[in-house]
Amino acid sequence: MFFKSSKINEFRLWGLLLTMLGMGLMVLGTAGIVFWGQSGKVVAAIGLVIGLIAMLASLGIYFWAGMLSTSAVQLECPECHKLTKMLGKTDRCMFCKTILTLDPAQATVTAEQLEQQQASGVSSQS
Ligand SMILES: [Zn+2]
Repeated sequence: MFFKSSKINEFRLWGLLLTMLGMGLMVLGTAGIVFWGQSGKVVAAIGLVIGLIAMLASLGIYFWAGMLSTSAVQLECPECHKLTKMLGKTDRCMFCKTILTLDPAQATVTAEQLEQQQASGVSSQS
């Protein structure tokens, strides 16, 4: 988790970032032809290819997020009483970012403890 938001929102954010990156690269690549003429075509080609890959990757992420959200549990947030979706056993509310859990063993864990758990989990993986 790079951002303090729910997992579905984070997937959407990454998809959006990749789309922006892809579009930016394609525009920059095309601008390369205008600025550098013949030699800019190589830059344009590279930019277009990388941009296209980024766009395809973002499409994949959107698709994946869509698949995940169909299997997500829908529930009413106990904090803000809005209808939210959660993935896995612990996730944050999409609206107020409260950490929610389905696991009774983790229900008494505070936000700080959970962040420590996640931080130690990340460091042991790498
Ligand atoms: Zn909430």
